[in-house]
Amino acid sequence: MNKLKEIDEERALELHRDLLVVDMHSDTFMLLTRHPERKFAPSEPRHQMDLSRLMAGGVDLVFFTVSNRDNNGAGLAWTLKALDRVYTESAQNAENFTLCLDRNEILKAKKEEKVGAFLICENGLPYRADLSTLRMLYRLGVRSVALGENEWTGRGCYDRSGGGLTDFGVEVVKEMNRLGMVVDVAHLNEEGFWDVLEISRVPFIDSHANSRALCDHPRNLRDDQIKALAEKRGLIGVVFHPPFVDEKEPNLSRLLDHLDHITDLVGPEYVGIGSDFDGISGRDEIMKDVSEMPGFTVELIRRGYSEDDIEKILGGNFLRVLGEVESFATSLPGGGLAGH
Ligand SMILES: [Zn+2]
Repeated sequence: MNKLKEIDEERALELHRDLLVVDMHSDTFMLLTRHPERKFAPSEPRHQMDLSRLMAGGVDLVFFTVSNRDNNGAGLAWTLKALDRVYTESAQNAENFTLCLDRNEILKAKKEEKVGAFLICENGLPYRADLSTLRMLYRLGVRSVALGENEWTGRGCYDRSGGGLTDFGVEVVKEMNRLGMVVDVAHLNEEGFWDVLEISRVPFIDSHANSRALCDHPRNLRDDQIKALAEKRGLIGVVFHPPFVDEKEPNLSRLLDHLDHITDLVGPEYVGIGSDFDGISGRDEIMKDVSEMPGFTVELIRRGYSEDDIEKILGGNFLRVLGEVESFATSLPGGGLAGH
């Protein structure tokens, strides 16, 4: 029995190292922007994610948040500060860390064994943004926006006042489709989710959420939402924040129960990882930090997932979604960067 366990682990670690591993949510650069004296490289002991632990954890691409709601009242200026920090870190650590603007750059970074950064805004755009702000953020490298938890794009899942996307939120989704940006419904309320489903012309994601059937939290998705997301060829990233995993006993095995539930419902093509590291500081029930990420793949092997399925779950599913989002934009007259 012990021998079998060892073989499983060895195979899992090898797979984890070889395959593209994507983490679809991290707030680490929010912390680094708030605390400029803290380090991204090589290491920051106060954080769950830094460059050396990303490399130790075999993570190849991370979605880094550079904006959240109104950025504590500082709006767009704060987002520029966060972007500056990512650009500075990638210049200073160019041999190990690079910004990835599209699918090809992600594959290139993986080949060169660099950790890639995929830039995102969480909880809508910075305060008082309009579509020109969205386009300028795209030009600065932002490739995804999660729409929830503000009153100017859509209502969040904790907001009981109801209502779906705002008129501006609808325009944001359409413009993101045109530009080739990934629409994210994390934090959005249920009405907003169904609005995005109707409006978006391409697959969209919920970058960090679990199953509500297993853990009844408003941040998690109901089965009918997961099915609809999968029918749209989208993707849900399972999140490590303990209250979204289990009310009583959150742990890695319970997190994988969420993944099992999603694959039982819709198959392994529509699920990935969205850890939320450093948005969950001080909580280590699932993993101490990102260096423990290979444990996720070990658990997938133990649960009998095939190598094909594991390739999809760790990163292949996201590459597919991004490919579809990019192809739609470039197929439009005036789509993508060419259009402006
Ligand atoms: Zn979040």
